[in-house]
Amino acid sequence: MSVRVRYAPSPTGSPHVGNIRTALFCHFFARHHDGVMFVRIEDTDRARTVPGVEQEILESIRWAGIEWQEGPDKGGPFAPYKQSERQEQGIYQPYIDELLNSGNAYKAFDTPEELDEMRQYQQINKKPFGYFGGAWRDATPALVGEAEASGKKPVIRLRMPRGKMLVVNDAIRGRVEFESDLVDDPVLIKADGMPTYHFAAMVDDHLMGTTHVIRGEEWISSAPKHVWLFEAFGWEPPVFVHVPVIKGKDGAKLSKRHGDTKMLDYRAAGYLPGALANFITLIGWSPGGDREIMSMEEIASCFKLEGLQPSPGVFDADKLKWMNGNYIRALTPEQLISEVSGYVTNSEVAAYFGSEDHGDPLAVEGLALLKSAFESNPAYVGRVLPLEQERVTTLAEFGPACAFFFVDEVTFDEKAVEKWFVGQGHVEALFNHLIAGLDGRSSISLEECRALVQQFVDQEGLEKLGPAVHPARVALTGKTAGPGLFELMEVLGPARMLSRLQRAKGMIR
Ligand code: GLU
Repeated sequence: MSVRVRYAPSPTGSPHVGNIRTALFCHFFARHHDGVMFVRIEDTDRARTVPGVEQEILESIRWAGIEWQEGPDKGGPFAPYKQSERQEQGIYQPYIDELLNSGNAYKAFDTPEELDEMRQYQQINKKPFGYFGGAWRDATPALVGEAEASGKKPVIRLRMPRGKMLVVNDAIRGRVEFESDLVDDPVLIKADGMPTYHFAAMVDDHLMGTTHVIRGEEWISSAPKHVWLFEAFGWEPPVFVHVPVIKGKDGAKLSKRHGDTKMLDYRAAGYLPGALANFITLIGWSPGGDREIMSMEEIASCFKLEGLQPSPGVFDADKLKWMNGNYIRALTPEQLISEVSGYVTNSEVAAYFGSEDHGDPLAVEGLALLKSAFESNPAYVGRVLPLEQERVTTLAEFGPACAFFFVDEVTFDEKAVEKWFVGQGHVEALFNHLIAGLDGRSSISLEECRALVQQFVDQEGLEKLGPAVHPARVALTGKTAGPGLFELMEVLGPARMLSRLQRAKGMIR
């Protein structure tokens, strides 16, 4: 049997890390088995469907590097892959008729007030919540006929069995048993004729040949209903794989305070898709051993359901940064330029760092400088970026880190000025020496920069390079930290250095 897995999102809100992890597991599992992954949009709950979210879902999983073979955007042998369209085509109708005819489903005419009353009664009497039959599960055909004749619109509910043990075979948890008496009769068709998730998803899983249902563990309590639907139809159920939730490091449910929740915010924040996919896949899944940095191919080749952990996965934002830094360092010079130039021209980025939640004026400013430098002097940017590649953990950090290369006048760190330009007898001589060595040159190599500074150190009889290197760095960059001095000197070039040294000279006290 060849593997067919579905990623079946409801377009009710922006996809978050947990949703994308499910999609990644689907992708890797299908790819490992040379199977098919398909995307099915579960949009039968019209009131909760949010316009634009379907596109955002597809965009998010595409960006994460997920490949699917069938879906709303691709078509396929079981098209359409959108449940609202399947409903319009009448695909679900014969199946609800079948359940009504076999007695596995029934019409219920309860009014919202009656259902409210039932809920209150259950609450007061500490009874299990839900619809366990009410007035309609065992209503006579005459009573049902009468209600229909009066024009009332019923919902159609699944008649769950009573006094039975329902068994869900879960690939992670093994055999999970549910007492059927505690499982309520879910609505299959709403009063407006739309199928509910429970019904449409299971009918589609059967029709579309789903072999494995990989989904979040919040669905495990619905699984006995799903298993029973398959049994009522006499269909072979798929293998269920309920993946554990993701929690923050503090053990709390993942929320904004642990990091971004929307998938595409990570793109705006400067994460590389490979790093993010790698990181997310390792939340609750392990390849065995201590491998961590793994390409999509490597993960696919060793992806087994046995690697899924039964306990909640932990989201560690620091680890994500570390991993992203690794991926950035692994970029070739050409890849680095193309990633960063694509990043700074993406309009989501300025919007992200300008937003209330992520406001970061330094990032906005630095990235704008980088963007205009790409336009005016791409060759220079190509020499600047590798100098910061070792030091940044996100693409966004290139903005503030590289800013000093692009400004006409650097912004001086007050403390650095205080420390290196005040009361240091040799600094004026140092700047004069550098100015003399740079004057009249159009370029200078790293070795020549080193020799120039060394010459001053020898001449002055200084014991170490530090007293020359630190003030020079502050003069050229405004800061005390950054790439190696000689490397950045070579890239800045004589003209920029001369004007910066002249300006710094005026600040010596
Ligand atoms: N449409 C459901 C959701 O978005 C999927 C549940 C399932 O995979 O069965 O959560």
